[in-house]
Amino acid sequence: MGAELKLLLFATASALALPFARVTDRALGPRGCLFTFHRAAPSELWEKLPNRNFYIDAAFLDKFLAYLAAQNWDVVTMSEAQRRMSSGERGNGYVNFSIDDCYRDTYEVIAPLFRKHKVPLTLFVTTGIPDGTLPLWSSGLEDALLNRDRVRVGDETVVVESSEAKRAAYHRIAASWDGSDAEKHYAAFCAANGIDIEAMHWKHAISWEMLAELARDPLFEIGAHTVTHARISSLEPEAAMVELEQSRERLNERLGIQVEHFAFPYGRAFDCGPRDFALAQRAGFRSASTTRKGLVRRGHDAFSLPRNTINGGHRSLAAMEMHLTGFTGTAARVLGRV
Ligand SMILES: [Zn+2]
Repeated sequence: MGAELKLLLFATASALALPFARVTDRALGPRGCLFTFHRAAPSELWEKLPNRNFYIDAAFLDKFLAYLAAQNWDVVTMSEAQRRMSSGERGNGYVNFSIDDCYRDTYEVIAPLFRKHKVPLTLFVTTGIPDGTLPLWSSGLEDALLNRDRVRVGDETVVVESSEAKRAAYHRIAASWDGSDAEKHYAAFCAANGIDIEAMHWKHAISWEMLAELARDPLFEIGAHTVTHARISSLEPEAAMVELEQSRERLNERLGIQVEHFAFPYGRAFDCGPRDFALAQRAGFRSASTTRKGLVRRGHDAFSLPRNTINGGHRSLAAMEMHLTGFTGTAARVLGRV
């Protein structure tokens, strides 16, 4: 579909969705819209990144935070969002932002933006990242493609001089590695290209020191996102409980806090279901978030919260309005994309 046609459809749908959302607000109480993304990069870098759809453009995030304030949306923690969902009190609509996984740019790029706008942010940490036990193979692959003109992959030399070639190579190689052998492929790649795998990890991972500093600031709320970034629905209940409980305990122990919120890795219908929502509750969390699109309203189930993913592709305020009115959630349900 052409960009102009898409924009026209967005504008038309938005014009219809907004009055409907306002009527629903009067009947059901204020809307809550939960957003999630992974990484952020300055615009100049974002343009060049081989896997840029995994990032949000930091300048766009800055603009979006200013827009929300101008439109009277309250940006709140997950705890406050949950309190509003259960109290059903009248007032402004509310928005929560959460970062999943947590890379170094959470500390260096994203946290400073939220401080600048004086609004809170929830961090769902995969504890294997600051513990250095979860290989960040996609970040390491991307880094090598971004910073080199050619790389060795198996018997092949791949020339990646232009941004387009870097993006194409990233998607091709990442797709061929994805699965249980990703770690092995990445180790061989690092050896063949003279990459220090440990140094590469810490170039992209958030550290416990960075998390401790953020945890001391009331603007930042820490939640859990498993130990190994496992797809919870694929695990036996005992193994799923280990991922849920150990990630929370590790965060409590390293940061001296009580972690109350959880987010399911991947988060779509196939990745977490009713059994998993019950397990999150049994593990002692107060909420669990998915990546199913939609809004929250008074009385929403706390263990299957919808979140709207705003990685790279969504760089327009019109697209954000689609989430804020609930249009994307309704469209996803109609199209069966849950
Ligand atoms: Zn994740």
